[in-house]
Amino acid sequence: MAVTIQIKHWPIPLNEQERIIFQAVAHAAAKMGVKAYAIGGFVRDKLLGRPVKEIDFVCVGDSIALARAAAKCLPGKTSLVQVFKRFGTAHFVWQDYSIEFVTARRESYHPDSRNPDVEPASLEEDLLRRDFTINTLAISLQESSFDQLLDAFEGLEDLRQKRIRTPADPIITFRDDPLRMMRAIRFATQLHFHLAPELVEAISQEAPRIQIVSQERITDELNKILMAQKPSIGFEWLFKTGLLQLIFPQMVALAGVEMIDGKGHKDNFYHTLQVVDNVAARSDKLWLRWAALLHDIGKPATKRFDPQQGWTFHGHEVVGARMVPKIFAQLKLPTHQPMEYVKKLVLLHLRPISLTKENITDSAIRRLLFEAGDDLEDLMLLCEADITSRNPQKVKRYLQNFALVRKRLQEVEEKDRIRNWQPPITGEMIMERFKLPPCKLVGDIKNAIREAILDGKIGNNFEEAWEYMIQVARELQVPNVD
Ligand code: ATP
Ligand code: MG
Repeated sequence: MAVTIQIKHWPIPLNEQERIIFQAVAHAAAKMGVKAYAIGGFVRDKLLGRPVKEIDFVCVGDSIALARAAAKCLPGKTSLVQVFKRFGTAHFVWQDYSIEFVTARRESYHPDSRNPDVEPASLEEDLLRRDFTINTLAISLQESSFDQLLDAFEGLEDLRQKRIRTPADPIITFRDDPLRMMRAIRFATQLHFHLAPELVEAISQEAPRIQIVSQERITDELNKILMAQKPSIGFEWLFKTGLLQLIFPQMVALAGVEMIDGKGHKDNFYHTLQVVDNVAARSDKLWLRWAALLHDIGKPATKRFDPQQGWTFHGHEVVGARMVPKIFAQLKLPTHQPMEYVKKLVLLHLRPISLTKENITDSAIRRLLFEAGDDLEDLMLLCEADITSRNPQKVKRYLQNFALVRKRLQEVEEKDRIRNWQPPITGEMIMERFKLPPCKLVGDIKNAIREAILDGKIGNNFEEAWEYMIQVARELQVPNVD
């Protein structure tokens, strides 16, 4: 395929740092007698007015030598130049810019791998191997054409039309490297662009190819979709194209509405997406967004129809919390801290609702403070985001109820200091007082003290706890009580 590069007006000025970088690379390239271009995400995001701190340069020639020479031309220090010989790329950091160099190349793919054989090639051939037209825009660094915008595939027009399109046949593009299907949907989400119809069709057709992509790369794209302003855009595309069924079937199980005796329930897939968007509007925390995505994941497994009550999902928070570790393992998300946090929020997501009922005791409030600890604010935010009713009266009432819960939580916390609380008597103290070795009895006494404090039977202080400990020990016939 012949590629004709058009030269376009490039209206966005570079800032001072970017100008210094461009001049350094241009200078180094001129000295080496090679052609270099800024390309890809940097050019795209600059034209869109998005903040960008990563610059990719493509070099028709030895990009590794160019990286080393450019680093030397920059004022002040750069990081070490990291070289990836196999990929013909080099990378360094200067100030807060991450700068990458790649040798212009042509690629040929094998059916079983997304890693192609590569050969050095012309700029035109390099542009043709790139995923989307909006990622093929290049800025020339040659002296004769410095700062010109090169547009081979009408990428500028696609930027204007807010359209994701591939330079080559989309079927072949996605078959060659199926990660591009995830990237297409991710860019559509991040940029609020639409997918050209032939891309939607090609992704739907080639979706099963996603199986040759490593889980880490898939999850990386999922995280980027989740971190976008409106993550639902991406999840809807993943769902409609059939990708979601392959990479995250538990979420697809949320979709749909069943009817019995004229009674339906809400579509939990679209409800979940709404909750994720609501959370995204108020917080940048990735793991809180994951908690929103998973908060109702236990619903399909707990769905029942009761002729009196209609549809119920009893215990879905418990079942959902239990599903979290498996999902994290399947998606290769980090276990430990983030996983425990998500699990906790899924488990507790109905508790603040139960506290909106009348006659709630201090003890119920204390328990939530104790169990949620530092994550209480996030939990409340999730609960407020969970209100997706279209009835404004209802929404108002629910929000008012949560405001009351927040007030109660604050009052009880000020009085009892339960959040991040450690019971005043430790296991060591119990062992020492009764001359006990570590054993179950010690745990039983400790739990009894904690429960008594949470229930409000005794105050949250050392003296009352100590007295209560002696009393419990006596009841349990612990040796050395008196
Ligand atoms: P971002 O950095 O926001 O993810 P980007 O467009 O800069 O967006 P990179 O992954 O940094 O994406 O890649 C830089 C450029 O390399 C892209 O703009 C695109 O031209 C090309 N590219 C990256 N990945 C692929 C791929 N899988 N297939 C084809 N071209 C790709
Ligand atoms: Mg980039």
